[in-house]
Amino acid sequence: MGNIVAIVGRPNVGKSTFFNRLIQRREAIVDSVSGVTRDRHYGKSDWNGRKFSLIDTGGYVKGSEDVFEAEIDKQVELAIDEADAIIFMVDVESGVTPMDEEVATLLRKVDKPVLLAVNKVDNNKRLENAVEFYSLGLGEYFPIASTNGSGTGDLLDALVEALPELEETDEDDLPRFAVVGRPNAGKSSFINALIGEERYIVTDIAGTTRDSIDTRYNRFGFEFNLVDTAGIRRKSKVKENLEFYSVMRSVRAIENCDVCLLVLDATRGFDGQVQNIFWLAQRNRKGIVILVNKWDLLEKETNTMKEYEAAIRREMEPFTDVPIIFMSVLNKQRIFKAIETAVRVYKNRSEKIKTRRLNDVMLPIIEGNPPPAYKGKYVKIKFCTQLPTPQPQFAFFCNLPQYVRDPYKRFIENKLRKEFDFEGVPITIYFRKK
Ligand code: GDP
Ligand code: GDP
Repeated sequence: MGNIVAIVGRPNVGKSTFFNRLIQRREAIVDSVSGVTRDRHYGKSDWNGRKFSLIDTGGYVKGSEDVFEAEIDKQVELAIDEADAIIFMVDVESGVTPMDEEVATLLRKVDKPVLLAVNKVDNNKRLENAVEFYSLGLGEYFPIASTNGSGTGDLLDALVEALPELEETDEDDLPRFAVVGRPNAGKSSFINALIGEERYIVTDIAGTTRDSIDTRYNRFGFEFNLVDTAGIRRKSKVKENLEFYSVMRSVRAIENCDVCLLVLDATRGFDGQVQNIFWLAQRNRKGIVILVNKWDLLEKETNTMKEYEAAIRREMEPFTDVPIIFMSVLNKQRIFKAIETAVRVYKNRSEKIKTRRLNDVMLPIIEGNPPPAYKGKYVKIKFCTQLPTPQPQFAFFCNLPQYVRDPYKRFIENKLRKEFDFEGVPITIYFRKK
């Protein structure tokens, strides 16, 4: 996990152009509070070996100047609360605008590194014009052109220089289980119930508890850290931002864990926000357990659970080999089963299958079902091995790896899942030349 850097600024100054230049992979975080759906982007970058996450808080609602202004205030507030450093972007083409001044006023009070990037400085004339941004009172500025990258190196040098060193929070090597989910799903209640003491104040208001706290926990003779993403109260006044924080916290907790316990509210289901978290965990190759909480609130008929489960699995496709536990924290129903399952998923994820055994099992299957010929060529898989990575990855060695298509990869994955236990664990399969 690295520092968080937020980019703020008026619409159209070039924030997303800059963002896209820098990041290797983009994750959208979608806010859907009060009927407003918008994208905020989050991605990873590094410069001179320093890793950081970049948030483009730029998504905004189309509307009047007032709406604009309110949005910018939120953006800045979010950045101030959440980021370790802020890049404030302005546009040399338009010069200093009243809104820039307003943002600068907010940022001058901030006790965090603020870097002023004057964008669209594509020529010498503009370089001269950029001088006027000194008037914002933020000191030195960085003239850049996001479209071609000029000047961005100096900006990034200064950025990583200014980033605070992160404390190493992971002193121990214990497995990390992150409890994630939307606000109000019951995460704090779940952790309280497990720990058996009122460490957190549980209330009905979404977003009263924020941040993440680790608790060392011992159960079934197995020691681990529970990472709570609903911890300390945030000071943000903006409801929308609270939802965003909770997702941001989940993102950080997920990146830093071994298994995600994804808690959802049975009365709300596996909705868009929950799906975002699920895919994030899946893409990060983390173990996953789905905990359907508040099961006590549902009217149940004979097949309710089965149907509910099937509906979730449809949404999870193609990665459906994930345990789903129906629990009620209120009634203390199946909460330990949840932990037991997480321990099992952790073990599945750390499983190392001996090459000999893997080949004994997989080669006959492959022989009975070889990859279909492609462009008249036959793919011959000779042997396979599990790679020494923290999460399961397999290499299958063959003559023509480029001819193995996705359906065959899925076939191999399904067989691996059938023959060995990888429940709750994303696996990666490579075909390599031999
Ligand atoms: P955002 O609303 O702040 O995210 O701005 P965008 O990244 O969408 O950019 C707005 C417009 O400015 C687009 O048409 C970009 O192509 C343009 N733009 C961005 N960076 C530069 C630059 O360095 N030079 C010039 N001339 N145009 C730029
Ligand atoms: P968090 O925001 O995810 O940490 O959610 P909380 O733990 O604060 O719980 C939100 C609300 O849901 C509180 O009022 C809890 O009492 C309630 N709650 C939690 N678990 C259950 C449950 O299993 N059943 C019912 N009926 N309510 C629950």
